[in-house]
Amino acid sequence: MTVTKPRAEIVADDARVVEAFELRSNASHIPRASAEMPIYDGPEGDRPWIGPHGEVMRRLELHLTYTCPERCVFCSEEHRMEAYHDFPVTWGRVAKVLRLHAERGVRSVHFTGGEPTLHPQFVEVCMLARKLGMRTSIGTIGTMLAKRSFAERAVPWLDEALFSLHGPNAAVNDRMTRRQGSFDQTIAAIRNTLEVNPGFDLFVNTVVTKLNVDHLPDTVGFAAELGAKLIVVSNTTPEGGGFDKYRELGLPLARIAEVMPQVPARAGNAILRFFGMPMCLLGAHDVLSNDLHWDPRVTVEWATRPGKVVFDSVYTWDPGRKRARVAACERCTRNAVCEGVYDKYAELYDTGELRPYG
Ligand code: SF4
Repeated sequence: MTVTKPRAEIVADDARVVEAFELRSNASHIPRASAEMPIYDGPEGDRPWIGPHGEVMRRLELHLTYTCPERCVFCSEEHRMEAYHDFPVTWGRVAKVLRLHAERGVRSVHFTGGEPTLHPQFVEVCMLARKLGMRTSIGTIGTMLAKRSFAERAVPWLDEALFSLHGPNAAVNDRMTRRQGSFDQTIAAIRNTLEVNPGFDLFVNTVVTKLNVDHLPDTVGFAAELGAKLIVVSNTTPEGGGFDKYRELGLPLARIAEVMPQVPARAGNAILRFFGMPMCLLGAHDVLSNDLHWDPRVTVEWATRPGKVVFDSVYTWDPGRKRARVAACERCTRNAVCEGVYDKYAELYDTGELRPYG
């Protein structure tokens, strides 16, 4: 029997997902029912770090904190923060990871979290990474960089920062982050960073959901005006909060196909990347798919193993996280380079909007 799935659509009721959480000026993460973390039972410790085609791992992604002052409804780290916020990532642990991977040939590190600038030794961590010969990068909402004195201490040790910005103004951005003042703080952090180092590699990541997609071209235009050299437009990932609320937040494929081709014209001189989207829906801009510009990475983060929590290394050699190639992809000539649609989307909805190449 053939099971017909519905087409995804945007309906007024989707907005209840943000309205359920009041907008606060000073609150930490939205408390949720605690998430069950998967228990890994595979080999522990050292694992092969030369890729399946002989590639050498060059990039490290290190989770420095499991806390964040924002309350973003789509937060992909929501479950991990809930599960591991009582496990501090100590200086000793960070130093050991940095030294190990520097010896193995890693040449760049991206610090993430939670909010990485909240780590008590954030500046010293960046100094050590530089000393070990790594290029330093962070994914941040800008929390501590909004303080000028902190920016003056930290920015000299940073090569690039990917700031989260989810709307072109406070009304749109703070509706997504559920914290009043979030937008103003991020903008202050961006301005401080550029004042300390006018040539800084300022990057912006904007997460696009059903509830802010109408503002996406303006968000990208605003990020370009701020001086972003790279703008990443990220699809809502079905992970953490994004998994819990995927029906309300996940972008319909039809909307991706309508909106994304309008975005490059607003990006000015910035390089643009589309993350987590089927290549065939990007129109003439399909070469901007992040699937084509992605680097293998080792992610170091807390994970649960039978009876314990360990600071584990996860080696990822392709950008297919949470994505799946569906029936239409089987006849597509790009299926070796495009990772398809999110698995959760394919489980819930019809994917008839895909336009296989060839
Ligand atoms: S049909 Fe599938 S593999 Fe081909 S571009 Fe679209 S999503 Fe990617």
